Amino acid sequence: MRILVTNDDGIGAPGIVMLERAAQRLGAEVYVVAPERQNSAQSHAITIHQPVFARELPHTHGEARRIAVEGTPCDCVRLALIKLLPEKPDLCVSGINHGGNLGWNIFFSGTVSAAAEAHSFGVPSVAFSLASWAPDVKWEGTDLLCAALLRRLLAAKHSRPDWLYSVNLPAIDPREVKGVRVTRQNPAVKGDNFVERESPDGRRYFWPVWDEMKAAHARHDNPDYDTVAIREGFVSLTPMRYEVSDMNEPGVKEAMESFQPGKVM
Ligand code: MN
Repeated sequence: MRILVTNDDGIGAPGIVMLERAAQRLGAEVYVVAPERQNSAQSHAITIHQPVFARELPHTHGEARRIAVEGTPCDCVRLALIKLLPEKPDLCVSGINHGGNLGWNIFFSGTVSAAAEAHSFGVPSVAFSLASWAPDVKWEGTDLLCAALLRRLLAAKHSRPDWLYSVNLPAIDPREVKGVRVTRQNPAVKGDNFVERESPDGRRYFWPVWDEMKAAHARHDNPDYDTVAIREGFVSLTPMRYEVSDMNEPGVKEAMESFQPGKVM
């Protein structure tokens, strides 16, 4: 088995080491292709107006090949799949992100987008996130937990060959985790805010922050939601599909039927 490991926190982040170890525990041939620098919240961005440099790093954890890319998480995946790997991998894992990717944050996430990008090439993919932004968050045991989850996922009967999941781990001792809940993205959690400040030379600036109070007000307590699973000490596993068309919204169809573009010119 061949596994591609990537992330958005950068190739030197502690979380990717955990995922690299998890991939090695599965006995896989491991390729780490990840951004040279921190690339969180880069979403599905790709580089198009400048070259993408890639450099091989020395082995640090067993036999994995490690390549740092001056680009976004999606650049890494595209480069790995099109140019760097000798063959298509059997699996792509992204993370472990430092911070949860729950609710609307899935759309900002470079971690989730990297997995989604690999999925678009037909590679089964899993994004992993540890649901805490605390600087002293504990990584111990997350490699074992991810390896165990991956074993289950690889053995599962999927409805499609190219499956895609976003997995969030609660930021507690892995031995205290209550289980795994298959969840859906909480559509209501919006905690985005800006703190307004003034720079030393008198200019106004805004510091983007996550506002827990604001998020709490928007929160709906449905046990199926990813946010609720994490709050209750479960691993949240969200099956994903990148398809934004909404054919259940036919309201505009009649209004458009009689529209003749030629007549407005
Ligand atoms: Mn990140």
